[in-house]
Amino acid sequence: MTVGSPATMRAWEVSQPAPIETGPLRYVEKPVPAPAPGELLVQVLACAVCRTDLHVSEGDLPVHREHVTPGHMVVGRAAELGEGVTDYALGDRVGVAWLRHTDGICAYCRRGNENLCPNSRYTGWDADGGYAEYTTVPAAFAYRLPADVPDVELAPLLCAGIIGYRALLRASLPEHGKLGLYGFGDSAHLVAQLALAQGATVHALTRGAASQRLALELGAASVGGAYDSPPEPLDSAILFAPVGDLVPVAMRALDRGGVLAVAGIHLTDTPPLNYERELFYEKELRSVTSNTRDDGREFLELALRYHVRATTHVYPMSQAQQALQDLKAGVFDGAAVLVNEEAP
Ligand SMILES: [Zn+2]
Ligand SMILES: [Zn+2]
Repeated sequence: MTVGSPATMRAWEVSQPAPIETGPLRYVEKPVPAPAPGELLVQVLACAVCRTDLHVSEGDLPVHREHVTPGHMVVGRAAELGEGVTDYALGDRVGVAWLRHTDGICAYCRRGNENLCPNSRYTGWDADGGYAEYTTVPAAFAYRLPADVPDVELAPLLCAGIIGYRALLRASLPEHGKLGLYGFGDSAHLVAQLALAQGATVHALTRGAASQRLALELGAASVGGAYDSPPEPLDSAILFAPVGDLVPVAMRALDRGGVLAVAGIHLTDTPPLNYERELFYEKELRSVTSNTRDDGREFLELALRYHVRATTHVYPMSQAQQALQDLKAGVFDGAAVLVNEEAP
């Protein structure tokens, strides 16, 4: 079924992974993809920019698909339904996120940890994503989105928000606990709102005056540099900055029994940990790997209930490469969101 999608579209693709300043992305004209059975073709209205897109573009993550189109925080409209899709209708508002396939049969999937599935596939890495006018998504991995939140505000919730939420769960924040956030970008500023709404005390440890200002505006109890000590011991911490050097720093800031969750998909090497200062007293260091669809649905529900809203910086789709360069340079706070100029 179709509502008359055009034959071709503008889309970004990674020509050859390289430092983003050197322009590894190309803006090309290519055919609008046809949805496979079980998939939706989605007209992209807004696509938020993730640090993972930077890792895909620069080669920190190995190439999974030649000339891939990045982007995995898409708010769009169902423009065509692949064979067998019955739970979506043309024109439905849908979200496309990072996780797009799991096998459903491995031990991890069967015990509810589909985020660990060895056969998982990801949007904007294994399959073309949302830095384009159209993209596809398996209907089983699409999210239904509320009608009353603007596209641009909703898009960053779809990875920054969902992954941040999983990191918050992994950090085992106790009720009314003290939470340290290392790095305060797209993901952290959403997690902070959720944690604050649920009664936590939040300390933001981040470089950059803009990020510190945003943290205070949202209600953080304190801000400091990433290598500074927070004013009180932390029950939980989340490391968003992809900087392994901060692992021992954050571990030292934990209270007895505290947990550090590392949220990124990529982290520079960690220096050795000192057992007495950084691990003893049952401190825990945990990683965060992707998310389950349940995490996603839960987070979207909580985000709407608690009015979690992204601070956004809008770029036209044609400026995607600039948005990634700006992300790397840390020139904006909150989340960058790409919008297609014209949406019929
Ligand atoms: Zn992401
Ligand atoms: Zn599996």
